[in-house]
Amino acid sequence: TKERGRNNFQLYTTSMNEDSMQKLSLEGFLRKALGLQEFVLFYQPQVNVSSGEIIGVEALLRWKHPVLGMVSPASFIPLAEETGLIVPIGEWVLRTACEQIKIWHEAGYPDLIVAVNLSARQFLQEDLVEMVQRVLEETGVDAEFLELEITESVTMHNVERAIVVLNELRNLGIRISLDDFGTGYSSLSYLKHFPIHTLKIDQSFVRDITTDADDAAIASSVIALALSLNLHVIAEGVETEDHLRYLAERGCYDMQGYHFSRPLPAQDVEQLFVRGKLF
Ligand code: C2E
Ligand code: CA
Ligand code: CA
Ligand code: CA
Repeated sequence: TKERGRNNFQLYTTSMNEDSMQKLSLEGFLRKALGLQEFVLFYQPQVNVSSGEIIGVEALLRWKHPVLGMVSPASFIPLAEETGLIVPIGEWVLRTACEQIKIWHEAGYPDLIVAVNLSARQFLQEDLVEMVQRVLEETGVDAEFLELEITESVTMHNVERAIVVLNELRNLGIRISLDDFGTGYSSLSYLKHFPIHTLKIDQSFVRDITTDADDAAIASSVIALALSLNLHVIAEGVETEDHLRYLAERGCYDMQGYHFSRPLPAQDVEQLFVRGKLF
């Protein structure tokens, strides 16, 4: 038994080492990825179901590693946050998304809005507002066509500062969307102090909206809240006709999800613009 115990211990430390080795090499790969141009943005349409038109797109980061293949953002964004790499990566995302929206506007889709995700770490950067302003200037994109998606937990971390930063962003003319709304801890009373445009209903409430009474109640309440506060509301993770109908019946007409389109490379999402109505 003593022998086995020692082996177990060795096994344990070996796997611990493998874990940290894996993390270390992932971090190394991640550091190089920007320079090697391994990142790419996909775009998922946001659709208004009463007009059937694409009102905007959400930019979603993809990492195409030559050996690891397509790495999901869910698996590398947390590491990028932890290491601070999200700051340069996030700036690249913003710049690339703005360059793309400029191209689309010039190609004849003048009203399209692009939504870009902002991480907690980015939001805490002292020079966030200057960075955003610089990117808008350098790409020649009008601020009204940029929407920044932040999660409510980011704003709750330091409410006072969040209000200051959000006001500065709004003064630039940018729209702010509260992403994953309903999953965090935000006190509803803060909502009226945050200069935001949009509440984004989290997909976890949409998924079982027609079968789970609690999810349905939360989604309905978020819609009612948005409407009464005069905020724009959009639902994510809309996968079925039933999801669509339930949301539309309650006054949420802007939606995003596999029912309309998966996130696509820029050229593929353009095909959808050309085809016109998505719904
Ligand atoms: P998110 O911001 O909540 O983005 C929505 C996620 O839901 C995306 O996953 C999208 O592909 C997925 N999705 C869209 N429609 C459906 C649907 O109908 N059903 C289901 N089940 N999923 C759907 P993705 O692209 O894997 O991104 C995951 C998360 O990674 C994002 O969640 C966001 O938090 C983060 N992320 C992605 N790109 C960026 C980025 O450029 N910067 C930062 N900071 N975070 C990013
Ligand atoms: Ca988002
Ligand atoms: Ca979301
Ligand atoms: Ca999410």
